Amino acid sequence: MHEPILYKKLDSNKVVCTACKHKCVIGPDNTGICGVRQNKNGKLYLLVYGKAASFNIDPIEKKPLYHFLPGTKVFSLGTVGCNFACSFCQNWDISQASKELKLKLLKEKKPELMGVEVSKYGYDLSPEKIVDICVKGKIPSIAYTYNEPIIFFEYLYDTSKLAHKKNIKNVFVSNGYESDDALELMKPYLNGINIDLKSFSDEFYRKICRAELKHVLETIKKVHELGIWMEITTLVIPGKNDSDSELRKIADFISGIDKNIPWHVSAFHPDYRMTDAEITRHTTLHKAVKIGRKSGLKYVYAGNIIDEDNESTRCPSCKAVLIRRRGYLVEIENLKNGKCAKCNEKIAGVWG
Ligand code: SF4
Repeated sequence: MHEPILYKKLDSNKVVCTACKHKCVIGPDNTGICGVRQNKNGKLYLLVYGKAASFNIDPIEKKPLYHFLPGTKVFSLGTVGCNFACSFCQNWDISQASKELKLKLLKEKKPELMGVEVSKYGYDLSPEKIVDICVKGKIPSIAYTYNEPIIFFEYLYDTSKLAHKKNIKNVFVSNGYESDDALELMKPYLNGINIDLKSFSDEFYRKICRAELKHVLETIKKVHELGIWMEITTLVIPGKNDSDSELRKIADFISGIDKNIPWHVSAFHPDYRMTDAEITRHTTLHKAVKIGRKSGLKYVYAGNIIDEDNESTRCPSCKAVLIRRRGYLVEIENLKNGKCAKCNEKIAGVWG
């Protein structure tokens, strides 16, 4: 167990966690919404420090990050727990594990056992070990992913600082609920982020994710203000967030911030507690791509399907194919030093 930096002590042995926008006030023995930050005798502890529930070496395109060191590998890791409760979560077996455990222990009136029980879900993987694997394997970046990274902030923060010293980049795959304090601390070490903008309806966020839309929108604006490279993903779920007007609102919001932000519209597959919705049709994704382009976004991609035309990066000026993609097959064709090799247009992204 590890004492976090993102929290404050309150009266009556309570604490407030400041890692994410929930700002949980946590009483003795209890944990915050994410289930991995626990109050023990008036001090907060991160229960999953050094405990990776899942890790892998992935293509960077899988995050998805399309304008970030294309064609490279990324060391990816996550812990148990999450600050959202999305009923369509595709990693629910780790993201919701701590909540299920918390409910069980509360029922048994043994909340103090959370630390011992949660730590059983992870493999020991220290920040030093992660960076060592990347150095030895010549892996240029680390992704904090699979579950919401901000809940294990101190683990990733220590890893990021070590990685930065070795010229290894750090990226988040996030639901966009980071507190400003967390983002400001991470700014020197965070090279990229993919944020899920799951819907433009507060009702969707409240009912399906147990969160609030306005906080996600604030985070997106803040990340842009801080100058951290950002891409945005929307999982398009039939009947839930796939109306023309909702997709247009999302596209217009992103476009209003910066037309260079890539928008990934991805296909949904039924999972976890959302098994009533269908798989997203290709025609729906094509509609979303058109809406994104019409709103002025320069880079809109269809995801979770094989569709070379809508996966590849084209120059927004002369339309030459810069990066050809087919699934995780990536070929750099006309991109040179971050510019189109045909017309010299500057292409936004992190290229080297
Ligand atoms: S990180 Fe966890 S404990 Fe902290 S505010 Fe968010 S949900 Fe609450």
